[in-house]
Amino acid sequence: MEENPFKKRWRKGLRRIALVYPNVYASGIANVGLQFIYAYLNSIENVICERFYLDVYKGLRSLESGTPLRDFDIALFSLQFEDDYFNAVKIIENSGFEGLKVAGGPCAMMNPKPVRRFFDAFVIGEVENSRVLDVISEAKSIEDLEFDGIWRDGNVRRIKPKKLNFYLKKQIVAESVFGRSLILEVGRGCVRRCSFCAVRQIYSPPRWRDVKILTEFAESYRGHVNKVCLIAPSTLDHPRIEELIERLINMGFMVSPSSTRVDTLDDDLIELLVMGGLKSLTIAPESGSDELREFLNKGFDNEQIVDVVETARKKGIKSFKLYFMIGLPNERFEDVKAIVDLVERISRYVKVSVSINPFVPKPHTPLQWFPYTGFEDFKYGLIEMRMRSRYLVTKLSKMCNVNVESVERFAVQTILSRGDEDVSDLIELKPSLRVAMKLGLEKYLGKIPFDSELPWDFIDHGYRKESLIEELRRNVNILPKT
Ligand code: SF4
Repeated sequence: MEENPFKKRWRKGLRRIALVYPNVYASGIANVGLQFIYAYLNSIENVICERFYLDVYKGLRSLESGTPLRDFDIALFSLQFEDDYFNAVKIIENSGFEGLKVAGGPCAMMNPKPVRRFFDAFVIGEVENSRVLDVISEAKSIEDLEFDGIWRDGNVRRIKPKKLNFYLKKQIVAESVFGRSLILEVGRGCVRRCSFCAVRQIYSPPRWRDVKILTEFAESYRGHVNKVCLIAPSTLDHPRIEELIERLINMGFMVSPSSTRVDTLDDDLIELLVMGGLKSLTIAPESGSDELREFLNKGFDNEQIVDVVETARKKGIKSFKLYFMIGLPNERFEDVKAIVDLVERISRYVKVSVSINPFVPKPHTPLQWFPYTGFEDFKYGLIEMRMRSRYLVTKLSKMCNVNVESVERFAVQTILSRGDEDVSDLIELKPSLRVAMKLGLEKYLGKIPFDSELPWDFIDHGYRKESLIEELRRNVNILPKT
């Protein structure tokens, strides 16, 4: 059951806008950016906006009134994950929708070329404090979608609000991936420089919300929900995070951060989080090796990880989730073994579950030029990665819960992430590496020369490409020679 303070009734003359989230409701409703778009569009007098989720009528009818998607004038798609491209295209095909199709979200901001064929335009950036939503809601034809931050052709500069000095006055409260909670977006962008991370580039510069705005908003939900989830790419880096958590706890809320970083977790903060109801801690060492982690610019070592786990255990946290990647540039087999060693040290005295993802070199990052699997010979790299995955499953499953993601699946994700317009052919078929190879798309898995033009070069995120190369050169000196 959701509490929806924005529900609007259809009457003749209203323009119908569909907000389509091509994935499940529980993750869609947790997205405060989408909640803003929904509330904003419904505040426009002659517009009605309704939502579509993959697991509600298969994305073909609206959640609010069950109205078929094809009856809407405009459809706004949110592309949060590359895997969603397949769902989005199926929804378009199966619904018979023929109105204007606009896509936005982080995938559009990174590289919309693979899905360009399926949409009329893309929103590149964050829409608050701009007229983008008004322009879209008034558009009758593709030509009307000419505006700053809307991309159809040529180059585009990302749009963003300079400050986060606004917040939704109301929020839909529902059972989301964070449980039934009030969601407070405490910031956007990130002050850190992890070299594999696109968020630091595509949401730059880092911006924080004032504690006053956040606590005033939370105040109006006292008694309605008992949990607050704090959202940001690196939540605990908020400059007044302890004060914020303390005030929320004093207001009677349980508090849960969406992400935690080892080097922000000192004694006091852990204690505060435990007081806020935290029972398990998620941390992302990314690698078991200090050298590779330094190359990734993570800024902490194995000793710090073990210390934090030990401190958290003493404060009452009993279970830990650890995230690692394999297939990192110049990764040696001993680096993979280092994951096992680190997990072994930790799992001696606490309950651990481990999640391991193959590394995807993302657009707009210093690692964007590296080959998938880390090896230049793609076929050899695949064999090696499968072997490394099997090794990790065998070793780790003896000491903890372990999930190692499929090397093939993440290869497809890399193609969707780094590909050009020809990747649309794959999206019309199915997410399969074998199919991708038949289409000759494995070229997007290889090493990219620094002087190549990249499919996403047309997006200006406010950084120079040379600065990524300089950063990479500085970090490469840290790498052990393979
Ligand atoms: S801390 Fe997280 S969001 Fe920030 S740069 Fe690193 S990976 Fe990206």
